[in-house]
Amino acid sequence: MSGPERYIAESAIFGDTNLVDWTIAPAMRTVAANAKSVEEARGLLEMLGLIDPRPKSDAEPVVACKRRCASCNRPGRHSSESLRKWPGTVAIVGRGMCRACYDVVLKEEKRARDDVA
Ligand SMILES: [Zn+2]
Repeated sequence: MSGPERYIAESAIFGDTNLVDWTIAPAMRTVAANAKSVEEARGLLEMLGLIDPRPKSDAEPVVACKRRCASCNRPGRHSSESLRKWPGTVAIVGRGMCRACYDVVLKEEKRARDDVA
């Protein structure tokens, strides 16, 4: 340790959120350099009191997904991908819709066909 991180090590005490002003920028850079993800960096910076915590919303938690059900707009995943890889998502099984929505559409179409026949 020879750079600014040396001063951080000397001056920072775990749980001490009152960092000396001039150590804050290097501390943030050190956190950013060592974090494995954006979320981890944000969490560490929040813990250190270096950034304002994001307001906790009562809305449904953000679910990582690449697509949504065309009908109910729930977060979706390709039907061949596992739920484990995309937690909180529903499989998109037909016409861009989840199983529940697609079944409703199929049932309605079947009823319409049966009415004609
Ligand atoms: Zn749906």
